[in-house]
Amino acid sequence: MNIHDKMAGIVPERLNLKSKFKFQCHNQIKCFTKCCRGISITLTPYDIIRLKNSLKLTSHEFLALYTTPQVLEKTDLPIVTLRAGDDELKSCPFVTDKGCIVYNDRPTTCRYYPLGVASLMYKEGVDEDGFYFFVNESHCLGFEESKEWTVETWRKDQGVDIHDQLNAGWTDLIVYKRSFPPNLKFTEKTKQLFFMASYNIDKFREFVFESTFLDRYAVNSETVDKIKNDEIALSEFGIKWLKSILFKSKDADSFQVNEESALNVNNTDN
Ligand code: SF4
Ligand code: SF4
Repeated sequence: MNIHDKMAGIVPERLNLKSKFKFQCHNQIKCFTKCCRGISITLTPYDIIRLKNSLKLTSHEFLALYTTPQVLEKTDLPIVTLRAGDDELKSCPFVTDKGCIVYNDRPTTCRYYPLGVASLMYKEGVDEDGFYFFVNESHCLGFEESKEWTVETWRKDQGVDIHDQLNAGWTDLIVYKRSFPPNLKFTEKTKQLFFMASYNIDKFREFVFESTFLDRYAVNSETVDKIKNDEIALSEFGIKWLKSILFKSKDADSFQVNEESALNVNNTDN
């Protein structure tokens, strides 16, 4: 499952929601679990929340045990990928001969497979029908099966809608940063804040509730209650906060930045 390598230097066949294809994956197929070897899977904030809860780990433990930090090209932003095992096949840590042990909470990339989503890389020209492509790995025999899908029915079947909805704000941050001139760099501290609010939700919770955060920012009590008890809401709040501090966005409507005391993270490493 190596979408990034597949994308290098090639223009993918562009699919939209109505595009049709034949495909089926099942545990009797000869290639069963081959797509879970040689992995290169970028994890989104929502992927990490689902996976760490599935494994009953804190986000910090999950990141330490199962991910590799990377830098996303053209953005200089930190991302994390699922860490492949050190076996010869570079297997996903969650694959067994019987399949995926975190199947119900598998990452967005795994749900879309054998489709890839180009919106992160090619946001330009992406309309409401999206921009999808076939990953087309030669070992995948699912295309020889007769069950017919559209991209839309595949998305529904694989439950990606909720993932896309919750990943949208974070994806926008990355696309927005990509549109900046390459010489506009964030400080190391800013990148650490991006990492924490994006991926380490338990640390971000501590940051919000056990620091001066709630003194520095005027967050209404309804929002405070919500983010205290709902980590998805906390994650969305974190993305809005990042948008506010990284890009000075004023449309983060669920909390108000107290301009006078806000952290000036864009301009200092102190
Ligand atoms: S998370 Fe599951 S579906 Fe995704 S690569 Fe790993 S084993 Fe395969
Ligand atoms: S058909 Fe494709 S997606 Fe299904 S197990 Fe085989 S390689 Fe993986």
